[in-house]
Amino acid sequence: MTAGIRRLWTPEEDQQMLDWRAEGRTMVWIGAQLASNHPSISTRLAILNGQGHVRLSRTQQKALPPPPPPHPSKPGLRKCLCCGLTFPSSHAGNRICWRCKQRSVSDNHRFCPG
Ligand SMILES: [Zn+2]
Repeated sequence: MTAGIRRLWTPEEDQQMLDWRAEGRTMVWIGAQLASNHPSISTRLAILNGQGHVRLSRTQQKALPPPPPPHPSKPGLRKCLCCGLTFPSSHAGNRICWRCKQRSVSDNHRFCPG
């Protein structure tokens, strides 16, 4: 680590870099345009892209798909079948949130009607 000047990345710079990369510009070229003391343009781009050196254009960024649903046997956020609340469930078989479970216990083990 060097203690050089390190200014913050502006959203404009971020977008500009992504655009340039989408146009096929090299890291060196981009570095020259920004004429900066930025620690690492490639690192910044990797962060902006979320992973590795994936090339994303402005439109692709907006069209990013939502994260995939959790694996059925793995814990994850799932929607309660009763109240529709998203809650942390331990597996796919667990589709009733704790609130509805509590209610069912005090209501003759009936899950939410309707
Ligand atoms: Zn519920």
